[in-house]
Amino acid sequence: MPHAQVVTRFAPSPTGELHLGNARTALFSWLLARHSRGRFVLRIEDTDAERSRPQFAEQLYQDLRWLALDWDAGPDRDPDGVHYLQSARGEIYRHYFEELRVAGKAYPCFCSALELTLARKAQLAAGRPPRYAGTCRALTPTEIERRQAAGSRPTLRFRVPEGQTVEFVDLVHGEHRYVTDDIGDFIIRRADGSPAFFFSNAVDDAEMGITHVLRGEDHLTITPRQLLLLDALAMPRPTYAHVALLTGVDGAPLSKRHGAASVRELRERGYLPLAVANHLFRLGHSSTETGVLTLAALAKAFDVKHLGRAPARFEISQLDAWQRQVAHHLSPEAAEQWLVGALPPGLSDEDRHRFIDAIRLNIVLPAEAAAWARALYGEPPPLNDEMLAVVHAAGRGFFAAAAGSVVQHGAELRPMIDAIRTATGAKGAALWKPLRLALTGRADGPELAPLLNVIPRASIEERLRRFAG
Ligand code: GLU
Repeated sequence: MPHAQVVTRFAPSPTGELHLGNARTALFSWLLARHSRGRFVLRIEDTDAERSRPQFAEQLYQDLRWLALDWDAGPDRDPDGVHYLQSARGEIYRHYFEELRVAGKAYPCFCSALELTLARKAQLAAGRPPRYAGTCRALTPTEIERRQAAGSRPTLRFRVPEGQTVEFVDLVHGEHRYVTDDIGDFIIRRADGSPAFFFSNAVDDAEMGITHVLRGEDHLTITPRQLLLLDALAMPRPTYAHVALLTGVDGAPLSKRHGAASVRELRERGYLPLAVANHLFRLGHSSTETGVLTLAALAKAFDVKHLGRAPARFEISQLDAWQRQVAHHLSPEAAEQWLVGALPPGLSDEDRHRFIDAIRLNIVLPAEAAAWARALYGEPPPLNDEMLAVVHAAGRGFFAAAAGSVVQHGAELRPMIDAIRTATGAKGAALWKPLRLALTGRADGPELAPLLNVIPRASIEERLRRFAG
C-alpha cells in the first residue's frame, strides 16, 4: 500500500506581524511537506474577532510569498471548496458542538467570570491545582432551559472523561502521558458562540486531513485537551512535533533589540529571502550541510528527527553571514534588483552596473550601498584627524603625482601607482592607505581600480588635489 500523503499546515492568527519564530515554524512545516512530496496548507485562525485584522492576514501572505513558501491550499486558493479562514467555518464548528452536546460529551455552563475567578482562588488557597469545579456538569434539562429563558448565555464545556489517560508521542519531545482526572472540563465555545482557539484548531486539523502538526512548543500543554476532543469526535489524531522556542542571543523572547523580530523588518532592510531561510533552517535543526542551499535542497535535507529540544538563539551576525554568501552569488540582474532602491537617481545603465560591480562584494545590506554611493558620487568625503595624519604623512608630492597621472592617463590605477612610487618611493601600506583615504574617505572597502571607474573623473582629481597643494 502506498504511504498516505503527508499534509502539513501553517495556522497563524492574524493578530500581528509574522514573527521570526513563527516564520521558522512555517518554514519547517513547508519543508516537511515538500520533503515528503506532500501538501502544505495555509489556514488563517481569525476566530478572535477583536484581535484579528484582515491587513495582518494580507501581510502574512506577502511575507510567506517573499520567503517563497507557497501553499497548495489556503484562503486565496481553495481547490476543494474548503474555507481556510476560520471566520468562515462557523457552520462546521456548530456541527461539532452539537454532536458533542447531543452525545452528552459537552454541556452548557452558566458560571460567570466572577464565580470562576473566586472558585479558582479558593482552590489555590487550599493548595489544590485550579480546575473547573464541575458546577454546571449535572444541570437538568429543565434547569438549563430556565436559565436560558432568563437570558443567560452559556458557554459550552467539554466533559473530560474520568479515570483515563491521554498518551501521545511528540516527534521532538518524545512520549507524553496525562491523567484525565488532572484536566478540568474546559470551555470549547465562548458565550458569544465563537469557538475556543484549541477547539477550532484541533477540529480543523482533522477536517483538513493534516497528518503532521509542527508548531511552537508553547502549544505542547494544550495537546492533551485537543486529543481528548478529537477522540470524542472520533476524528483522526495528527502527529505532533513541538518546535523549541526561538529566542534572542540573551535567551529572552525575540524583539527589535536583537536586530529584528519580524519578517517585514528583514525584508525592508534588504535581507534576501534565501539568506533568511538558510539561517532559520539551522536554528534548532541540526544539519551537516554547511553551504547555502536552495529551498528545494533545504527540503531534501530537512528531517524532523534533527529538531532539537533546546531553545534556539537568533543572532543577527549569523544571519549576516548567510546574507553575505547569498548576496555574493546573485546574478547581475538579481543584484541590481536587490540594490536598485539604494542607488542615486539618474545614473546611466553603465554607471549603475559599474557601481554595483565595484561594491557588491563589500556589503551586506542595501543601506551600505547607499553609503558607498554618497561617498563615491558626493562631495569629497571628510577625513577625521587620524586619517588626516596618514594623508599628511604621505606628503603633497604623493598627491600631486597621483593627480598628474589622472590628467595624463585618465582614471587608471597602474600609472597612478607608478607615478606615486617614482615621486615618493612609497610602497605597501604607505602607498595604499593614503590613496584610499583621499579617494574614498574610508580605510577599507572595495578594490581601488574599479572604484576609479565609479568616482566621476573630475571628482577624482579634486579628491587628490585637495592634499597636493
Ligand atoms: N493560531 C495558532 C498560533 O498562531 C496556531 C497554533 C498551532 O499551530 O496549532 O499560535
